[in-house]
Amino acid sequence: MNLELSEEQTAVRQLARDFSDREIAPHAVAWDRAESVDRAIVKKLGALGFLGLTIPEEYGGCGGDHLAYCLVTEELGRGDSAVRGIVSVSLGLVAKTLAHWGTEEQKRQWLPGLTSGELVGCFGLTEPGTGSDAGSLTTRAVRDGDAYVVNGSKMFITNGTWADVVLLFARSTDAPGHKGVSAFLVPTDTPGLTRREIHGKLGLRGQATAELVLEDVRVPASAMLAPEGKGFSVAMSALAKGRMSVAAGCVGIAQAALDAAVEYATEREQFGKTIAHHQLVQELLTDIAVDVDAARLLTWRVADLIDRGQPFVTEASKAKLFASEAAVRAANNALQVFGGYGYIDEYPAGKLLRDARVMTLYEGTSQIQKLVIGRALTGVSAF
Ligand code: FAD
Repeated sequence: MNLELSEEQTAVRQLARDFSDREIAPHAVAWDRAESVDRAIVKKLGALGFLGLTIPEEYGGCGGDHLAYCLVTEELGRGDSAVRGIVSVSLGLVAKTLAHWGTEEQKRQWLPGLTSGELVGCFGLTEPGTGSDAGSLTTRAVRDGDAYVVNGSKMFITNGTWADVVLLFARSTDAPGHKGVSAFLVPTDTPGLTRREIHGKLGLRGQATAELVLEDVRVPASAMLAPEGKGFSVAMSALAKGRMSVAAGCVGIAQAALDAAVEYATEREQFGKTIAHHQLVQELLTDIAVDVDAARLLTWRVADLIDRGQPFVTEASKAKLFASEAAVRAANNALQVFGGYGYIDEYPAGKLLRDARVMTLYEGTSQIQKLVIGRALTGVSAF
């Protein structure tokens, strides 16, 4: 791939960088402590076009390619992963999936609101009893006239209590395994749908993570996204691109760790000189820097493959696997550079580490990414 950014890509990255430095990073600690980012940030993201990247202009999007999307995601993740996650889900998992699979009517109904930030989307796949094995989900949608009646529950849903619409996965036929799963676009104010925020998360505390309970929720048949029984394909296609977005967010975390650690190492003095003079501190910084570059290059490769219409699923798993583990390592190394100050939240490393940790868990754990890569290498599905 051509590693030189176009003028447009450079400009959008600068826009996101300035926005992140001005509107996100200065508030990240306070939002983390308050367990909520300021909701006004969503409309500001929409106004700048960051919620419409890769979405066609006719639906309120601003076009652009996946590399630009990665650049913006990295900058948002550098400022605060909680904000990055709101975008990765509302745009990355919901709007982009809707733009790909939706009918004209569904796109016109939801995309302008999602891309402007007037509306927020969430992605309802995981259930209390089914996480990695998402194809075994048990939420049930039973046909009743021109509608489906849905019963079940969803767990760990990012944006859950904020969202206006949930891209919901439910079993609608008796076909075995994932073949019976369909996708639905369900307004969150539909009677019978209740939401409970999950508190006490290790990281991403500024983000609203929720449990959704569905009791006799009536969803019109016209709200089904993609043909009946194709829901799992919808979910997997969303997650494949989603993994690139998570990887880009991880690059942002690792970059933030590097910036903070270098700055601190060149100011803090021990043994009569700044700690940057100590070789073992330089080793910590070097390890972070190599992780940042390697994670970024793997992530950009996925974007490039998508933009050129090439297969990218295995590469997305590689990027997500490496970048998430690298972000944890980088934040942990940065914490070491900060010494005892790294352990309190007035300094950035601890939050970066807490925020990074979930990246190895969601949108497929590191083990699941290894099984995806292993299947591509051997032809054997070892799930
Ligand atoms: P399990 O699947 O029970 O896994 C437990 C352990 O077993 C893990 O280590 C796993 O790697 C391992 N394991 C499982 N199967 C295998 C196997 N075959 N081989 C080897 N090891 C295996 N979900 C959504 O649908 N929407 C969201 O917006 C969303 N946001 C989230 C936000 C947060 C903060 C968190 C924590 C989770 C979120 N999730 C969301 C859910 C997330 O995707 C799941 O937690 C994740 O897929 C893992 O599922 P699980 O927690 O049930 O773990």
